[in-house]
Amino acid sequence: MKLNIIRAAATTISAILVITKPVAVGTNDIQETQEIIIETSATEETQESITFECLGNFICTGYCDCDICVGQYAGQMQTASGTTPTAGRTIAADLNILPYGTIVYIDGHAYTVEDKGGAIKGNHIDIYFNTHEEAVNFSIQQKEIYKRSDNE
Ligand SMILES: [Zn+2]
Repeated sequence: MKLNIIRAAATTISAILVITKPVAVGTNDIQETQEIIIETSATEETQESITFECLGNFICTGYCDCDICVGQYAGQMQTASGTTPTAGRTIAADLNILPYGTIVYIDGHAYTVEDKGGAIKGNHIDIYFNTHEEAVNFSIQQKEIYKRSDNE
């Protein structure tokens, strides 16, 4: 059996599986060939070697820039590390566990530790949202948190 991999396009690999089998016992030199086209979505370009380290289960909560969430810091639009809080990127964490600038993956999405909070201790991450409604809707969720282990 032979597997010919042919790169057809940047986003697909076509593999032609050639199955060669004898048509009768004892007559190995007479063969029948069957070709099957296999399409996959894998590409050589997108196959990166990325290693992730699981940091375990964290309690994830949501917060925003309102006075309910951040009290005296409401409306300042500045994280404790001096960045502008940005939904989809900014998270607050216990800096003893995840220092500023640490990139962690929650549900496959990369977030950056840019903030801290008095209530954010241990395995707890607070995720920044644009509105209080979104933060409340997120509620409390337990997530497995990952960190890239090949870019330190
Ligand atoms: Zn809020």
